[in-house]
Amino acid sequence: MLIKILVVDDSASDRLIIETMLTEYCVLTACDGVEAMRIFEEHDDINLLILDLNMPNMNGFQVLEALREEERFDKLRIIILTNYDELDNEIKGLKLGAVDYIRKPIHMESLRARIDVHVALLRANHELEQKLDEKTFTFDMVFDQAPIGIAISYSSHPEKLDEAMVRVNPMFEQITGRTKEELINAGWAKITHPDDLVKDMESFRKLQAGEINKYSMGKRYIKPDGSTVWVYMVVASLVPIGNNQPNHICLIQDISERKQIEMERKYISEHDRWTGLYNRDYLEVLLANDAKQKRSSSRAVIGIDLSNIQFLTANYGFIYTQNLIKKAAEALAQHCTDNRLLFHTHENRFVFYLVDYQDRNELIYFCDAIAKTLESLFAIDRIGGGIGILEIDQDQKEVEIDLLLRRLLIASEMSNNMYGKFETCFYDEELEALVTRERDVMDALAAIAAEKPSNDELFLQYQPIIDLRTGSICSFEALARLRSEKLGPVPPVEFIPIAEKTKLINPIGEKVIIKAFHFINKLKELGYDAIGVSINISAIQLLNPDFTDRLFELIGQMQVNLKNICLEITESVFVSDHDDINNIIDKLRYTGMEIAIDDFGTGYSSLAREKELKVDSLKIDKCFIDKLLDPDLDRSITSDIISMAHKLGHCTIAEGVEHANQLQYLKKHGCDKIQGFLISRPLDEEVALDFLHRSLSGSLTFGLSAE
Ligand code: C2E
Ligand code: MG
Ligand code: MG
Repeated sequence: MLIKILVVDDSASDRLIIETMLTEYCVLTACDGVEAMRIFEEHDDINLLILDLNMPNMNGFQVLEALREEERFDKLRIIILTNYDELDNEIKGLKLGAVDYIRKPIHMESLRARIDVHVALLRANHELEQKLDEKTFTFDMVFDQAPIGIAISYSSHPEKLDEAMVRVNPMFEQITGRTKEELINAGWAKITHPDDLVKDMESFRKLQAGEINKYSMGKRYIKPDGSTVWVYMVVASLVPIGNNQPNHICLIQDISERKQIEMERKYISEHDRWTGLYNRDYLEVLLANDAKQKRSSSRAVIGIDLSNIQFLTANYGFIYTQNLIKKAAEALAQHCTDNRLLFHTHENRFVFYLVDYQDRNELIYFCDAIAKTLESLFAIDRIGGGIGILEIDQDQKEVEIDLLLRRLLIASEMSNNMYGKFETCFYDEELEALVTRERDVMDALAAIAAEKPSNDELFLQYQPIIDLRTGSICSFEALARLRSEKLGPVPPVEFIPIAEKTKLINPIGEKVIIKAFHFINKLKELGYDAIGVSINISAIQLLNPDFTDRLFELIGQMQVNLKNICLEITESVFVSDHDDINNIIDKLRYTGMEIAIDDFGTGYSSLAREKELKVDSLKIDKCFIDKLLDPDLDRSITSDIISMAHKLGHCTIAEGVEHANQLQYLKKHGCDKIQGFLISRPLDEEVALDFLHRSLSGSLTFGLSAE
């Protein structure tokens, strides 16, 4: 920094002394005040003035007064150098703006030292000013050019603002679509989207109360044309510096584009692509949120299952059924209100989520309306289904959404299984007990399948089958039994469907096969190598691509004679994959194994399609045998089933024979074999072997005589 010093003194010698002393600075001199003022006109960069007081024309005090008049001399440092000794003059000089008062005669060293101090102060001041200028310059540049909106407010009020209270940068104006004046007139609260205002105001209140020093949020500003702009906003308190009392700063970044993408993604993640309805994921989120917030007085979910859809897909193709589902979605959507939202949770499943309903009657009434809609929509396609209702317990703290939806599914499936025509079924404690038991059975099966050490046990019983021609046992049916430590004995009608549903039937079925093969080998060991064993095979096992290979592997490993094996397959299997099933059966029969259709007459295949079934025997279902107890026997079709089966080359086995008159009828109409409590209940392995032994040795005749 160049230091320019003006020495004003009427003493030429004093001027010279000082000038000589300060050679390193630029020194100007004047002999009186008038000349001094003239020099000031020519030089606007004088930093230091050494001023005598007693001078002709214009004395020092007059110079001081003149300088005080003008703002541009504010920073000028003035040292009075005088032979006036009085304190009054010193005070007067200092009051008029001088910073130092030195008495003559000039003491060189002292004067030099004091001038050096003032020069040092001047330099320090200059440096400070320079830094401040730089800062101000940088701030202004950033403020004006920043790609984010910046507003600095000097007011703690969101609405009452005036020109002096706000600084707004161009980007803030651009993002909000409003000029500074418009922003001031409106106040930020008025141009904030109502949905974001509560949170914004609450956070702002906390900021003003000093509870927080900043907050951030995504929010929408309303533009003058009514459209909205999404911004990410950070608001922070500003700490006052000196006289400057700003209150807070608000930074905003336009995130409309990101928000648009986010909203599109959200839409996709919350909706089903085909029907455009909300999907299961969104239902789960909503249920979880509502459970936490407890905003509604009552909540319920209604599950709608459409049945037979798969069969229609098999017959008419995927597009056909997809269009039916879309139609169902559209029809059901007509029942939506703000309190009744509709979700497409799975291919053939829909869920209504109801809040703030009055009572159970309202739910029933609503379900009746849904049922009517669906019945009229699906009358031609003969689609049925079930409707389940689950009222959500509002007091329950932890709600496991998955469990909730599983319960709903149970209710709708129960309705479907029981009625099949959109009747309503509430989820209740009885169903709950059923579900719990089902889970326990599943656990027991899973433990057995995984061969985990537990006291749960899978074993087989064997029920004799009698050849009516010879009157003696020709084979046994192997029937699986489950004994669970927790549940006691569980009948197969209960655990087999669960095993099928969970696909545990594959490992469980394999264990059954192995046990049955052991029994066949035991029979062989004991010399009964003509006695066969029938094994029940579920559709899921049969359609498992590894099934046949694994079966042949076991047959090879255990050296089982193929002619002793009969596989019993239920009739319903043939409905879905008729050709596939026949191919598998062909492959099995080719090896010499026997195939029987179980529960014949109860399934879908009907007698008309019987000839398409490439099997060895038909096991006539117990319901036809029960009918033989009817006094009006002439109306029984059991004899027709037998004769038709014979015509098609099938052997017939009557299941569930309990009474002698049933036996007489079956014998009379040429049924080949019988099985039932009349002969024996299913028996444990040792008991079955003893039973066989006794029957073959002639001590058991079953009231039959060989032909
Ligand atoms: P199913 O294969 O039709 O077996 C005949 C069922 O009728 C057996 O019931 C048997 O105990 C019962 N039964 C036999 N004679 C009479 C009778 O005179 N009166 C009455 N009331 N019932 C009789 P169970 O053992 O309870 O088996 C039920 C069903 O469970 C079986 O029907 C079969 O479909 C299935 N099942 C049993 N074991 C297995 C298995 O290892 N695998 C598969 N996939 N299913 C099995
Ligand atoms: Mg069977
Ligand atoms: Mg059966």
